[in-house]
Amino acid sequence: MTHDHSSFDHAPWDVALSEDGSADGDHLREECGIFGVIGAANAVNITALGLHALQHRGQEAVGITTFDDQEFYSHRGIGHVAQVFSDKTIDQQLPGAMASGHVRYSTTGGSGLRNVQPLFADLASGGFSIAHNGNISNAMTLKRDLVQKGSIFQSTSDTEVIIHLVATSRYPTLIDRFVDALRMVEGAYSLICMTAEGMIACRDPLGIRPLVMGRLGDAIVFASETVALDVIGAEFTRSIEPGEMVQVDHKGTISSHRPFGNPSPRPCIFEHVYFSRPDSVMDGRSVYQVRKQIGMELAKEAYADADIVIPVPDSGVPAAIGYAQQSGIPFELGIIRSHYVGRTFIMPSEGTRNADVKRKHNANRAIVQGKRIILIDDSIVRGTTSMKIVEMMRDAGAAEVHMRIASPPTEHSCFYGVDTPERSKLLAANMDTKAMADFIKADSLAFVSIDGLYRAVGEAQRNAACPQFCDACFSGEYPTRLTDFTERNSPDLLSMPVEKVA
Ligand code: SF4
Repeated sequence: MTHDHSSFDHAPWDVALSEDGSADGDHLREECGIFGVIGAANAVNITALGLHALQHRGQEAVGITTFDDQEFYSHRGIGHVAQVFSDKTIDQQLPGAMASGHVRYSTTGGSGLRNVQPLFADLASGGFSIAHNGNISNAMTLKRDLVQKGSIFQSTSDTEVIIHLVATSRYPTLIDRFVDALRMVEGAYSLICMTAEGMIACRDPLGIRPLVMGRLGDAIVFASETVALDVIGAEFTRSIEPGEMVQVDHKGTISSHRPFGNPSPRPCIFEHVYFSRPDSVMDGRSVYQVRKQIGMELAKEAYADADIVIPVPDSGVPAAIGYAQQSGIPFELGIIRSHYVGRTFIMPSEGTRNADVKRKHNANRAIVQGKRIILIDDSIVRGTTSMKIVEMMRDAGAAEVHMRIASPPTEHSCFYGVDTPERSKLLAANMDTKAMADFIKADSLAFVSIDGLYRAVGEAQRNAACPQFCDACFSGEYPTRLTDFTERNSPDLLSMPVEKVA
């Protein structure tokens, strides 16, 4: 059985904004981060710290499940890690040497405590908990079949489909049932699962979402990014390979399985552009160095004659440093970011133009006034924030504003665990670059080319026949089938009642 201490720490409307207060829907958002540890005395505290380092991957909700050789314990709540796991007695409430956790920003399934992970089920083989980063692109189709066969779903999360597939598989062992379940699943998944026997970490056959392994003394650790290993003091061992399933038992014995053959990997290239923390290493590449290199490629491809290079903080900073170094144009902090934005704010109904953006980012007028500036940002999604920042620069006296973007135009939605607006809302899906420049009122606008982006991540160029990464939001070439989206399943068919949270 599981002991569930789940709660809401504050009103759910308080989490509509991201940690930095942005509510403009104008950045792609990573949906989840996962963490697991087995063989550590204070597993819950280590997991909370690891999840804190992954907070940028999801700010809406967090959960941790532990196992103490007898029973599973769980605490899940809406809010940040530091809010939900602030109780000093949490190690008594969630005892055990094995723990896994999840930070979430909901897309598939929506908000609500029942969707907060890790999800847990008592299967015929015993307790089974699962934490998932990614998105299953045939979840609705599988769910419809399972419901027709009698499965009763407790959540609207796509992840619960995996639990039901494991539960209904006819293979004799848990690991065979798990593999059988995953063979039916399409899309992106990095998973950390727990059973009474130990932990299973696994990455989808294309490795779309990241997952790494480390060691903390005798304990084995899994995390979405290496920064979580750094923060808890663990040593990075290696990335979980695409399609690999790693099992660890309570004695620390590690076994690796490759049940899906060896398809060509397609990790998400946007992890390098924006999602991952710059102090992480992603599949052997420093995220910071890649972002700086993107800026250098951008300077080679789209030089502008200007006085200063200014990043849109924080995500544009490494690319702006690269652009400045390559172009020889000085780097300046022409926009200052407030670190005290807060998550809810009553805006004055009249007065300051663009106060919502200025509350977070303000022009450094002394630097900007009279200058021809190059503004560097990581991406343009809807374009509304870019427009306001360009306007803010002009209000501060900029003579010219040239916008340079450290990714190719985002023309397509992501179906692999990243929150993107529908395609019709993506600026680049509706306009060419010149029209986009006019829309954001920049003197010029340019994006790094897709080959420039591939060069920055260490490839000679994009292999058109078999791309080395998933780049579908730029290219429209999705590396998996998208059954739910191409077969037009009705999302209403299996909808759940609205959950009242108070
Ligand atoms: S579509 Fe874009 S954001 Fe989504 S996984 Fe592929 S590269 Fe990453």
